[in-house]
Amino acid sequence: MTKKITILGSTGSIGKNALRVIDSLGSNYDLVAISAHTNVKLLAEQIHKYKPAYAAITDPSCYKQLKELVSGEDTKILCGPNSLVELASLSEVDTVITAVVGAAGLAAVLEGAKTGKLLAIANKEPLVIAGELLVKTARSNGARIVPIDSEHSAIFQAMQAGNADEVQKIILTSSGGPFRNATAAEIQNATLEDALNHPTWDMGPKITIDSASMMNKALEVIEARWLFDVPVDRINVLIHPESIVHSMVEFIDGSVVAQLGTPDMCLPIQYSLTYPERKKGITSHLDLTKLGSLNFATPDLELFPALRIGFEVAQKGGSSPVVFNAANEVAVEHFLSGKIRFVQIVELISAALEDHKEVNSLSLDELLERDKWAREFVNSNVDSI
Ligand code: NDP
Ligand code: MG
Repeated sequence: MTKKITILGSTGSIGKNALRVIDSLGSNYDLVAISAHTNVKLLAEQIHKYKPAYAAITDPSCYKQLKELVSGEDTKILCGPNSLVELASLSEVDTVITAVVGAAGLAAVLEGAKTGKLLAIANKEPLVIAGELLVKTARSNGARIVPIDSEHSAIFQAMQAGNADEVQKIILTSSGGPFRNATAAEIQNATLEDALNHPTWDMGPKITIDSASMMNKALEVIEARWLFDVPVDRINVLIHPESIVHSMVEFIDGSVVAQLGTPDMCLPIQYSLTYPERKKGITSHLDLTKLGSLNFATPDLELFPALRIGFEVAQKGGSSPVVFNAANEVAVEHFLSGKIRFVQIVELISAALEDHKEVNSLSLDELLERDKWAREFVNSNVDSI
């Protein structure tokens, strides 16, 4: 049966890899809809090449330029942030790849869950802020979630070796990022260039900075908590510099089941589309003899406070993960634009968490209100930090 696919964020790192995977899988994988935020030129190229039925540009100021560039095409062009919701729930689509960055993808993935789509989720931030609601909504509407994040794809695959009640713990691996061997003083003085220099993965700018601070791993702990319904105290993190073991599940009998592969996002993207089957793909295969050795170590929570705070926030739940994520999104933007230093990202997140009033069990509107509050908090404190 042909899969009918929407890619939310087709111009990003995951989005472009998803297109490569779809190209390689052949005619049973049909691209129906794509989206970009501001990259009009690339979106127009993708429209010319794939001729999707729909395309969305979420920044309204780019709409006119896009319309001009694709005037000869039949693709229906949508505009504005809400267009993602429309693309995620199209009746002619069965599979939604969520590859936008940040909380901006929340409403769309929820709509995909409500309309029973197969959700191939790369965009982790919505799971961090509303994971419980998203998983519940998916379950009650027959929507299946298959993670694309490489660690979660590995766990999803390893979980198939046993029953949920036989899981002892989840072991998330982390490359350790560019500052794995750095001293506290080196991290204090880290430049944007240092932080963008990831040793094993080639990704978009926000997640690359999150990897340098280990915020990415903190977000992934919360992501795993909801995706696999495992309590936070049964989720461990191990530093694994080679990024070959993508994560592991330890079962109650002592067996540890891992998924290994070349560090290439095309592999988990492809698995999310072919699941429960496997197909020959474009990722190069591992030669373990060439690797020599695989190393594992405990993360240093003093050097990487974002991970320590992440575990605390994951335990608390409620409004804390929302504030944690939103404060980080805005602080990372300020770091990328040169306004703050690397270590000030975590300082701003901590300040926001301290200032906010913790609330548990929140409605979606209340979650979004907290998200907005944390963004405003960081913006109004960025000059005084
Ligand atoms: P990129 O920054 O490379 O791409 C982001 C995509 O989202 C682009 O298509 C961009 O459009 C679009 N976008 C940006 N801002 C908005 C917005 N406000 N509203 C709607 N669309 C927007 O990110 P990545 O591909 O690296 O990451 C995407 C998601 O996948 C993130 O949540 C990340 O954590 C997760 N992920 C990524 C991995 C990777 O290897 N890159 C690995 C695991 C998870 P435009 O190009 O026009 O700006
Ligand atoms: Mg990951």
